[in-house]
Amino acid sequence: MTTTTNDVTSRVLTAPDSLVGASLAGWLAAGGGTGLRRALDDRAGIIGLIERAGLRGLGGAGFPTHRKWAAVAAEPGPEKVVICNGNEDEPGTFKDRVLLGRTPHQVIEGALIAALAVGARRVVMYVNPHLTEAIEAVGEAVRQWRAHALLAALETALGGPVLLELRPSSGRYIGGEETAVVASVEGGFPFPRRKPPYPAQSGVHGLPTLINNAETLANVPHILRHGAAWFRALGRGEAAGTKLFSLSGDVQRPGLYELPMGATLAELIFDCGGGMLMGREFKAVFTGGPSNTLLSRDDLDVALDFESVRARGSRLGTGAMIVVSEGTSIPRKVTEFVEFFAEGSCGQCPPCKTGTYQLATLLRRIDTGHATRADLEQVRQLCGLLPGSGRCGLIDGAITVVASSLERFGAEYERMLIGG
Ligand code: NAD
Repeated sequence: MTTTTNDVTSRVLTAPDSLVGASLAGWLAAGGGTGLRRALDDRAGIIGLIERAGLRGLGGAGFPTHRKWAAVAAEPGPEKVVICNGNEDEPGTFKDRVLLGRTPHQVIEGALIAALAVGARRVVMYVNPHLTEAIEAVGEAVRQWRAHALLAALETALGGPVLLELRPSSGRYIGGEETAVVASVEGGFPFPRRKPPYPAQSGVHGLPTLINNAETLANVPHILRHGAAWFRALGRGEAAGTKLFSLSGDVQRPGLYELPMGATLAELIFDCGGGMLMGREFKAVFTGGPSNTLLSRDDLDVALDFESVRARGSRLGTGAMIVVSEGTSIPRKVTEFVEFFAEGSCGQCPPCKTGTYQLATLLRRIDTGHATRADLEQVRQLCGLLPGSGRCGLIDGAITVVASSLERFGAEYERMLIGG
């Protein structure tokens, strides 16, 4: 896998100084630990600094990080939990496995700073066991932190022992949904729950629980170390920081690229990815993994930040960019994604379990040339009926990718119908 051949100045999480592996000594020698020390010096200022930096949730939703931290900090009581979500299993997304596998200490330091900010003495590194390099590196990194004086300093600041632990997830896709993370850490099957209450108010065993994605947390030590203005200046325009993009599909150099938040789709595909494979023509990108939406040729100039992508009717999501070329069937790709969701549905909510299955069946019928106009109409009806019918976002994700593809590539579906 290619890792970041782009402009070094835009790299923070994947800069050579950060990619030091699982050695805590290596991380500290490269300037690691400075962020946590600064946080210990000014605990009350941490959340304000994160707000001024403009850090957003990088697991897909882009929720302002400081608001979630402030919500947990505002909850009463000393019993709180911080969870680093490293379940990453969205097709096309492979950023967290690189961070956790090759630079686990910056993520753990970020989680420890978060724990200090919100007042939590339990820190859980929740990692997908299928990400073998990541789970080994985090296990080793956790052992080293437990024995280090910086953790003892954190315990002093928090007034008691800090439990830093690695918890392998179930390895299921649904196990990354944040309420399923809560259920998993409690020891149960990762069944999602309805929100609200958000985990910030009621998470693990009803305790206020801060759940952040690994990439979000990885940024935190750097912000503490270099300041809010530095972080903001890394992004383009109004966007702050950098973003990891998992670039895959029909490009010359698929891989993980760190770019300024707000760099364009064309820069990612052509400058980083080396352009399309063997002279193929660009057709579309499935953004943010399949639970999000499509961008097409007219969008190559879009700035890759949460607002700009949304303004084009799509989502930045996790930063996964699955590039497809002319000649690739959009209905076929969408069918594969919906089949993935149908398989991943936990089965608690019948509209989700049966709805995804029914959608997948109809789409496969279209893809294989066995569908009538009535089948396509049924797909459109399901897209109207099903959103919001599950307790988590799985069914909505499946519908979004279908609806987005129908909006942009509806004619392609029509052509595949019997007599179309
Ligand atoms: P969401 O919009 O429901 O919530 C975003 C975050 O903000 C959550 O942590 C939520 O608890 C918090 N939040 C919202 N309102 C709050 C409030 N009032 N107080 C405190 N906290 C509050 O989104 P979500 O369901 O958590 O995530 C959806 C995203 O996840 C999608 O964009 C999708 O791309 C992404 N996703 C990622 C992966 C992966 O492998 N990384 C897998 C599936 C989905």
